[in-house]
Formats: sequence, structure tokens, C-alpha cells
Amino acid sequence: MSDIALETDDLTMEFKGFRAVNGVALRVRRGSIHALIGPNGAGKTTCFNLLTKFLTPTAGSIRYNGRDITRTKPADVARLGLVRSFQISAVFPHLTVKENVRIALQRHKRGDSFDFWRSESVLRALDAEALALVDAVGLSAFASTLAVELSYGRKRALEIATTLALDPEMLLLDEPMAGMGREDVDRTAELIRRISKDRTILMVEHNLSVVASLSDHITVLARGKILAEGDYATVSKDPRVVEAYIGA
Ligand code: ADP
Repeated sequence: MSDIALETDDLTMEFKGFRAVNGVALRVRRGSIHALIGPNGAGKTTCFNLLTKFLTPTAGSIRYNGRDITRTKPADVARLGLVRSFQISAVFPHLTVKENVRIALQRHKRGDSFDFWRSESVLRALDAEALALVDAVGLSAFASTLAVELSYGRKRALEIATTLALDPEMLLLDEPMAGMGREDVDRTAELIRRISKDRTILMVEHNLSVVASLSDHITVLARGKILAEGDYATVSKDPRVVEAYIGA
């Protein structure tokens, strides 16, 4: 298998003649933490929505593990192992942390079959798996807490747990640190680092110190195009990047 997990060629999204994303060729290396950054209006959200299949590009292509997914539906893309996280709707507020993760696991493991519910050993295994995931995202002490009672940062950790229940090979994170205080940011950064050990991660993130400390590779977008690429030290020194941020 090639070392590129996700790639786009000439990725373009035009809204009534305006190109929000304009000919982007993105290469996300397998196993890396890759950040997509850029000033407001650069096209990050549009790009993210194209990659997660919430939008269909007006031109160009997207390949995941060498397979063309340009016109594949979001659910089918998720089945291939490419999953978007931070869809708050995935969390049920009046169920506990463990119950939320268990439901995500049940859904993934075809819990719609009635036979699934008859086997005590299956249910016990599911419970153990749910607790392991709760533990993996640092929420062991909150396993019996209702989701609605969690702090904002811990709610997002729960979302990550429900996403991990789908056993993704690659995660797309939309501003994982948005709205978080310092402590939650540090905890979430640690979590992302931990789950990246055996996964590829692409994130859109505004917090540049998080981007600096987490990312192996950064793509800077400006006006719908790739302006610069490389590690943080390289792109942060690039005069075009400095100007794009200041001029935005
Ligand atoms: P970013 O996330 O980097 O701030 P966006 O992808 O949200 O940038 O937006 C890029 C540009 O595309 C902006 O100028 C925005 O106004 C425009 N845009 C985004 N979505 C639409 C849409 N649905 N219709 C028209 N213009 C849009």
C-alpha cells in the first residue's frame, strides 16, 4: 500500500462562480497528524466538507487508500475507515458515558440484529470493550456520569470515544480545540497524540500552538489554494504565510 492515505487532485468547489477551493492537491501521509490551517475565508471548512463528503466538488478528485471516493456517500466512506469526528449529535445527553460508547459499538457491530441481544457473552464483551474505550479517552472516572453533566472538553473526549467505536483508520477532526479552556486543550492534545499512534489524522485547527505541537505536516490554505506546506518551523517562517495571516 502506498504511504499516502488521502489525496486530492485539482480539488475545486465553486459557489455561483466563486471558487472557495481552487485546484487543491493534498497529500496526507499514512500515520501522520496533518493540519489544515489558513486565515479566515481561506477555504478550510469547504475543503473539510469536501473530504468528509458533505459537499461534492465541482471539479477534481479525492482518493482514499488509492480508491476514488469523489462521489462516494459519507456513510460508505466511513465504512472504508475514513471517519469525521465531532458531530455533537452522536452523543446522547441523558445516557451515561459508558452507555453512549456502548451504543456506538452496538451500532457498529450490527446491533440491529435481535440475536445480538440474546447472548450474555456478547453483551459482556461489549461492556468490556466500551469500558476500554472510555478508559482510552481518559474518562474512566466518568463512566457512570450522564453526558449532559460533562465539561465541554470531556464531552468532546466522549465524542472521540464514540468515533473510535467505529474503528476508524483515519480521523478527520474539525477544530478539535474550539471553545476549550487551557486545561481541556492540553488534555485533548494528549488524547489526539495517543489515538494517532495507529491512525492517520487530518485536522482543521485555529489554535496555532496546538498545531505547532501536534502536527507532523501542515498545509496552509489561502484564497482557496495551497500557499505553503511543511512542518511548523518551515511554514511559520514563510513570508507568504505571515503576510496571508496579517493581511486577512
Ligand atoms: P474558512 O473555513 O477557511 O474560514 P470557508 O471554507 O468557510 O473558509 O469559506 C471560504 C470562502 O467560501 C469564503 O469566502 C466563504 O464566504 C465562501 N463560501 C463558503 N461556503 C459558501 C457557500 N455555501 N456559498 C457561497 N460561498 C461560500
